[in-house]
Amino acid sequence: MEQPPVTLKRVPVLDLGPEIMELKPQLLRSIEDVLDKGAFIMGENVKEFEREAAEYLDVKHAIALNSGTDALVLALLTAGVGPGDEVVTTPFTFFATAEAISHVGAVPVFSDVDPLTFNLDVNRIEEVITPRTKAIIPVHLFGQVVDMDPILELADRYGLYVVEDTAQAFGAEYKGKKAGTIGDFGCYSFFPSKNLGAFGDGGMITTNNTVFAERVSMLRAHGSKKKYMNELVGYNSRLDEIQAAILRVKFPYIEEWNEARRRAADIYRELLGQTPGILLPAEEYYGRHVYHQFTIRVLGGRRDEVQAKLAEKGISSVIYYPIPVHQLPVYHHLRISQPIAELLAGEVLSLPIGPKIEASVQQIVAESVIEALR
Ligand SMILES: *Cc1c(COP(=O)(O)O)cnc(C)c1O
Repeated sequence: MEQPPVTLKRVPVLDLGPEIMELKPQLLRSIEDVLDKGAFIMGENVKEFEREAAEYLDVKHAIALNSGTDALVLALLTAGVGPGDEVVTTPFTFFATAEAISHVGAVPVFSDVDPLTFNLDVNRIEEVITPRTKAIIPVHLFGQVVDMDPILELADRYGLYVVEDTAQAFGAEYKGKKAGTIGDFGCYSFFPSKNLGAFGDGGMITTNNTVFAERVSMLRAHGSKKKYMNELVGYNSRLDEIQAAILRVKFPYIEEWNEARRRAADIYRELLGQTPGILLPAEEYYGRHVYHQFTIRVLGGRRDEVQAKLAEKGISSVIYYPIPVHQLPVYHHLRISQPIAELLAGEVLSLPIGPKIEASVQQIVAESVIEALR
């Protein structure tokens, strides 16, 4: 690839550098404290993080886990989803959402998305519900919440569980409630690039159901409530104490960081609002959008060209997601078509965004997008 002009520094799609630099003394102190205490599994940081998360999200139970993927798997297992069951979800998401459904032996049933919000089109879900349907997994993609009320209504009518994939929407809100606390389970990821990220893998389930919470807690630790009293065949899916300590250092900043992402999104809207040939992401529909991504649609088959021109200038952008889940090799046998998801996969482009992105950098990104389209 061509070298960028020397005047322009490289623009990564997410720059964790400034935040790490700012918090480094606190982070190192908290890690050192874990080493000094010598409790590396299920220590006080995990417990305190769960308490703090439950309080912030306003939910009864928060159970910290080792990844967002495991959160989805344990939620489905806790709901009793298994072989012979179907779970409805979106084809326009990260593979892990559907992978979790397959993992528990159920069949993912895809329902196409809304081209404006990129999220499940709630008006279509009922068409794919069958007597085998056991759950729905709405994904709050890119930090924008799904319209939950119609989903809750369907769940109620057909007796389905609702598992919210909140991996990309920590702190987002639907009609004043935190995303992930509306359905039966909220599943979160603390993968480093998520809005609240650890320095390794991490995840969490939230629920207001005490029986579910107890079962999730058991499943994460080999099916036991008490050590060496295994009652179920479970998993080893605990959040590490060091990751919990890191998350606790970052947690007090999540509001500020999500607000900064929202401001950055406003800046892009201002800079790119009048640009022909692209569509900006839908503004918030049902509550607070936390802009895990700022994803535009590039029309007229020019997306790859725009991405290449940005790259020439040292500006990174990412295609989330280049292949809709139903078209991935692992699901080829389903032989289904989801036209909106397929259309979006050919048009979407996620621009650099993060809580610390500078307006001057956004200016360069926006000018480069406009120039690429000329
Ligand atoms: C990141 C992500 C996951 C998986 O989380 P991990 O912590 O990486 O296992 C699941 N669903 C969505 C939508 C994600 O973005």
